[in-house]
Amino acid sequence: MLVVQKYGGTSVGDLERIENVANRVAKAREEGKDLVVVVSAMSGETNKLIGYAEHFTKNPAKKEMDMLLSSGERVTAALLSIALQAKGYDAVAMTGRQAGIVTDDLHTYARIEKIDPTAMQNAIKEGKIVIVAGFQGINKDGSVTTLGRGGSDLSAVALAGALNADQCEIYSDVDGIYTTDPRIEPKAKKLDVISYDEMLELSSLGAKVLQNRSVELAKKLKVKLYAKSSFSDNEGTLITEESENMEEVLVSGVVLDKNQARVTLRGVSDRPGIAAEIFSKLADENINVDMIIQNVGTDGATNLGFTVPQSEIDNAKKVMEEFDHDIEGMDYDENVCKVSVVGVGMKSHSGVAAKAFSALAANNINIQMISTSEIKVSMIIDEKYGELAIRTLHEAYELDK
Ligand code: ASP
Ligand code: MG
Repeated sequence: MLVVQKYGGTSVGDLERIENVANRVAKAREEGKDLVVVVSAMSGETNKLIGYAEHFTKNPAKKEMDMLLSSGERVTAALLSIALQAKGYDAVAMTGRQAGIVTDDLHTYARIEKIDPTAMQNAIKEGKIVIVAGFQGINKDGSVTTLGRGGSDLSAVALAGALNADQCEIYSDVDGIYTTDPRIEPKAKKLDVISYDEMLELSSLGAKVLQNRSVELAKKLKVKLYAKSSFSDNEGTLITEESENMEEVLVSGVVLDKNQARVTLRGVSDRPGIAAEIFSKLADENINVDMIIQNVGTDGATNLGFTVPQSEIDNAKKVMEEFDHDIEGMDYDENVCKVSVVGVGMKSHSGVAAKAFSALAANNINIQMISTSEIKVSMIIDEKYGELAIRTLHEAYELDK
């Protein structure tokens, strides 16, 4: 059995923790597994290196940043390999390049283009435990590239795909994916299994556990992913392809996204192309629009609402001012949040949305905007009720049971 394990920054945060990881890897080895272990930089290390660069300029060249930041992961890979060797295990540390990872040229946010797993496979054949520095590759010119923050998860999933590994285990300080954030609802339960699509929808909940791009890649490559803790022996959560019995569960989780601001446009000229103009302009300004809702027009005008990250609201206002002649009135609210109910069971069951609306109504929480997808219902509400709404929904769908 070939397993790719990935240990995040907290799991390798100091020498003692690296030793702990070495013990865990050694144990898996004793169980007869072939192992490729991907590591992050020690926690705080990447930020520290960014700080060093910013001492000189706020705008360091991205190519040099990749050279700098990739060093964090190399340190941990080497140390873990040394720790394993000290315990009598045959291990070898590899950089992204040595592991055969080739990316495009987009420094600090590169995409993996191909992986040649031969060197890893040869080392495995020789009985070695392969340790790979995460978060990095090289472009076709041979320059070091990095994959964007949190990119070691992506390295692990991509390597699991290239090696055709049986599974990919992502270790952090959290022991899996929960029905909601346990800091908001202490009755939150760890999920045993969840589909890729649900995981992607729950990303704001799971962002600290799994990087989004890595889940997308796992879905594409059909890599069986486990989210586990390096500090316990708990089972973790399996993220995998959707199966029929997953649909028996109506709702898998509820999520709160506090980083939302609402823009409402009243009396927008109801003519072809207006939405294209507004949203193209927002896109040009790199403003990420989340929810969009438009009404059926009456008397040549319509209402249009959308949400943006709170940090973008001033920019969004500026863009909207350019449409003054096309819009009667604008209204902004930064104090909103988005609560979402996620579950593949919604595909085959009715009444899921109605239940959410009733639960919020029973608590006198006004819903300002609603949007749905096949497996998600999202509602924009007053920010001060966000946590209450999460607890209310968690209970309404009996997620604590
Ligand atoms: N060290 C990188 C970061 O902090 C990559 C990672 O940890 O996955 O973003
Ligand atoms: Mg990380």
